[in-house]
Amino acid sequence: MNATDSFSNRARTAAQRCGATLPDGGGTAPDGTAALVVTTPIDGTELARLEPHTAAQIDDSIGSAAHAFERWRDVPAPARGWLVRRFGDLLVEHKHDLAELVTLEVGKIPSEALGEVQEMIDVCDFAVGLSRQLYGRTMPSERPGHRLMETWHPLGVVGVISAFNFPVAVWSWNTTIALVCGDPVVWKPSETTPLTALACDALLRRAAADVDAPADLHHVLIGNASAGEALVDDPRVALVSATGSVPMGRIVAPRVAARFGRCLLELGGNNAAIVTPSANLELTARGVVFAAAGTAGQRCTTLRRLIVHRSVADDLVARLASVYAGLRVGNPFDDGVLVGPLISPRAHDAMRSALDRAELDGGILVAGGQQVEVPGAGVYVSPALVRMPAQTEVVREETFAPILYVLPYDDFDEAIALHNGVPQGLSSSIFTTDQREAERFLARSDCGITNVNIGTSGAEIGGAFGGEKETGGGRESGSDSWKAYMRRATNTVNYSDELPLAQGVEFG
Ligand code: NAD
Repeated sequence: MNATDSFSNRARTAAQRCGATLPDGGGTAPDGTAALVVTTPIDGTELARLEPHTAAQIDDSIGSAAHAFERWRDVPAPARGWLVRRFGDLLVEHKHDLAELVTLEVGKIPSEALGEVQEMIDVCDFAVGLSRQLYGRTMPSERPGHRLMETWHPLGVVGVISAFNFPVAVWSWNTTIALVCGDPVVWKPSETTPLTALACDALLRRAAADVDAPADLHHVLIGNASAGEALVDDPRVALVSATGSVPMGRIVAPRVAARFGRCLLELGGNNAAIVTPSANLELTARGVVFAAAGTAGQRCTTLRRLIVHRSVADDLVARLASVYAGLRVGNPFDDGVLVGPLISPRAHDAMRSALDRAELDGGILVAGGQQVEVPGAGVYVSPALVRMPAQTEVVREETFAPILYVLPYDDFDEAIALHNGVPQGLSSSIFTTDQREAERFLARSDCGITNVNIGTSGAEIGGAFGGEKETGGGRESGSDSWKAYMRRATNTVNYSDELPLAQGVEFG
């Protein structure tokens, strides 16, 4: 691919290499719904126009997935793994094409975009291994001649709703695991990133054709929130796995619960790190900068609060300010750029408003927070570092932009209280060389992810990913997250000639 090509040509070529053909212009749906216009945050230019799916097409996709379930559930799990293995091979082959689309649609720097696709490849490996390890337990029965055990069975159609900022990795965590568990997937990607979704769908369909798996195991829904709502309300969708903001989760969760469906929520975070007097400040500064400024502050695990012991706060802030001053902001395709664009002007408005509120609360802007001029209509900002006198309301909210609030503490219990004193509970870390502090933190942080001497972002796929409180409680990816995608049955088998009842009950 040529760097001088227009962004729309580059998107078209990358999608085509993955097997997805983007339409030329047009895009109005048969029911008259306006085209979904896909733009790049790099300079605001149009990448493509897509036809949104109509209600009837969405209904067909869910019906077709439900039909595929009837066949796929009977395929042995290790054979289901062959599909994911082939998909993983195709991802290796098309790693650069997909990463190019991620950079074009989200504005991530290429290294982070490639890392996101690598995460997909990693989870394919994990899911293939898992396809031979969907273990149930056996328990001793209290009755003679009886066996008590649990077995795990495919659940049904999984609806995946995903956010813009990890347009492919989060889908792959869900989809690779769902497929080995025996479940088809209907995917409603973010309306900001449908091109990466079409490319993933094309690769997965090719993998299915190569291993003779049903073609209708996977469907993509093009559209806005209303397409997601169709998944949420459809009783044929056994599990809705929804990733996005807390307001989205507040709408989705009760609607799925109203039909007694299953919900897996991965919502917003407001992640903090505690820095104690014994911390290695050089290592801390490096860990903090990647976690706070990487992906232009647009990761769910982005570090947003730094709770620093008063004795080391000035030293650490000075180190951070000096690194922040050298962070190159700009077109993510340019060499040396570490911070790409914000996703939209609206994200910039939210950042501006948060900085104004922080200032009113007594905050002092130490570095960044300025708009950076880059040719075109993209929105670029220098990551902001703000010293706050206290954890005020604005600090307790997730602003999806690169703002790091620095809060002082004097006593370790106070640091933990500040840390846990927000509504969200996704990721957390401590920088310390004192093992007692590290262990106390691991035991008392109320987040789903708790780290020592690394930042809050950049999780590996082997662990379960997710968080508590307003983050929604869901777990995805590694460890035993697969259990959310299966149905558990408890089985009692009587291999004796007697019929003893449990708890010694006599009947007749
Ligand atoms: P968003 O909530 O605006 O949208 C997420 C998805 O939900 C989109 O596909 C959108 O179309 C869909 N949606 C919105 N309203 C819906 C409704 N009523 N019914 C069904 N679907 C609906 O989020 P965003 O701006 O794309 O992403 C940023 C947010 O996502 C941040 O809050 C971030 O922390 C969070 N996030 C969380 C995780 C995690 O794993 N916890 C991962 C990535 C992003």
